[in-house]
Amino acid sequence: MEIDIKEKHDNELTFVVKDVDVSFINAIRRICTVEVSTMAIDMVSIFKNDSTLFDEVLAHRLGLVPLETDLEAFVLPSECDCEDNCPSCSVSLILKGKGPKVVYSGDLVSAHEAVKPVYDSIPLLKLKEGEEIELEAIAKLGIGLEHAKWQPTITCAYKYYPVITIDDSCEVCMKCVNECPRNVLEYDESQNKIVITDIENCSACKTCMNNCEQEAIHVDALNDKFIFKIETDGSLSPEEVLENACDVLKDKSEEIVVFCKGGAKK
Ligand SMILES: [Zn+2]
Repeated sequence: MEIDIKEKHDNELTFVVKDVDVSFINAIRRICTVEVSTMAIDMVSIFKNDSTLFDEVLAHRLGLVPLETDLEAFVLPSECDCEDNCPSCSVSLILKGKGPKVVYSGDLVSAHEAVKPVYDSIPLLKLKEGEEIELEAIAKLGIGLEHAKWQPTITCAYKYYPVITIDDSCEVCMKCVNECPRNVLEYDESQNKIVITDIENCSACKTCMNNCEQEAIHVDALNDKFIFKIETDGSLSPEEVLENACDVLKDKSEEIVVFCKGGAKK
């Protein structure tokens, strides 16, 4: 397997992966989306809410606030020995405020330094003069399979690596160049022919093919090379999500190995 990083920003990563099967890369994509755990607010005890926002709406909104996650510091509640909410599986966040003001995610005060809102500027509610809010939110690890608030990824997708071939029958009519919505093709004056300038930007829409009267241009895709893009909500970095997805896949594979060995002994 070969991996080539194409673009990397804080929460975004684009890479090209070669010599892999589509089923493997799709398994990684699915695990990244719904089986890598992150922290999210799961329970809210509201002591005072004078705002016009219903308690249920506020609790739902709190659940969707992305929280910075330290996967080493916590365990999933289902894997914890406690009866209910211990420091190993949960974190308390307190929200207090008195109007007039807009209460933001940054006003949540966490009991654990590693767990806090990724962004301080998410508006939660508005308080008028004298109105108050007081609540305790309990954040826990969870997975996207259970609820979308635990999905670490915003975008997690791959596409087949495109291949464009242009035959000698091309009459340089320029239709493909002009019609391509992604400016993948260009006319090269020195060679007097159409050239591919940005193959990885091709979405394989085949507009060029459909507009070529000579049928000189062909769009295809490699089935062992993919462009993979992953963007997270900031709770985890793209690398952490990928690393944990591989661990989940490895654990699942090991379970099969253990089962097979157990079966062989019998
Ligand atoms: Zn616990």
